[in-house]
Amino acid sequence: MIIRVGHLYPEYLNIYADRGNIAVFARRAAARGHELQVDPITVGTPAEPGAHDLIYVGGGQDREQAMIAPDLEGRGEALRTAVERGAALLAVCGGYQLLGRGYRGRDGSWMAGAALFPLETVAGETRMIGDVLLESTLDEARGRTIAGFENHAGRTLLDPGALTLGRVVAGYGNDGASGYEGCRVGRAVGTYLHGPLLPRNPWLADLLLAWAIAHATGGEPEPLAALPDELEAQAHAVSAARARARGGRPA
Ligand code: GLN
Repeated sequence: MIIRVGHLYPEYLNIYADRGNIAVFARRAAARGHELQVDPITVGTPAEPGAHDLIYVGGGQDREQAMIAPDLEGRGEALRTAVERGAALLAVCGGYQLLGRGYRGRDGSWMAGAALFPLETVAGETRMIGDVLLESTLDEARGRTIAGFENHAGRTLLDPGALTLGRVVAGYGNDGASGYEGCRVGRAVGTYLHGPLLPRNPWLADLLLAWAIAHATGGEPEPLAALPDELEAQAHAVSAARARARGGRPA
């Protein structure tokens, strides 16, 4: 089958080669006999809710975020509707911040966001940089680990009761204080983890693909056939060890 992916602002939000996550989706879908059709969605491109099974947005610095923020804010209703109807979504760092209600950048300016995730972000004085290890809080994968790399000035504050992606084992996470990382609404996942995220966390790629396939078929998500993933397991182990060596989050 064809899995339709909407890639938001690929030419603006691609820090740390975040588009590598798309390559992982494509390869893992192909290994199960599915094809990924990737539509770039950029400033001014029309996109209907329902047009895509999976929506992806990468990270970027404040400068790039400012360039796309008004367009993304204007897509808020369409994105919320798409997720309500069961589309999967993955947003990384700068994209994650702008899928919340908004982001106050280092220069004090307020960028309104798409208000998909119940959160707000404010840039702090210092950057939060380094390898991260999480214990997943996803129901389907409770306790599984997620390894990645973070580099952000933004402190993201979730509304009370909001769902997270994981508990921080090592690293800063959303704000360096809450002990949690990322946010989830339906099948939408936002996270600070670059790296890219998916090559070293293939189970998360498969979960998002299973959700996207369920959206395409109108059925329930089915686990995908296992792949060997030996290199992926090694990448995860190296990354997790680096994060553990860094230690727990600073007080
Ligand atoms: N500009 C944002 C911050 O520093 C996001 C950076 C990023 O995507 N790495 O918080």
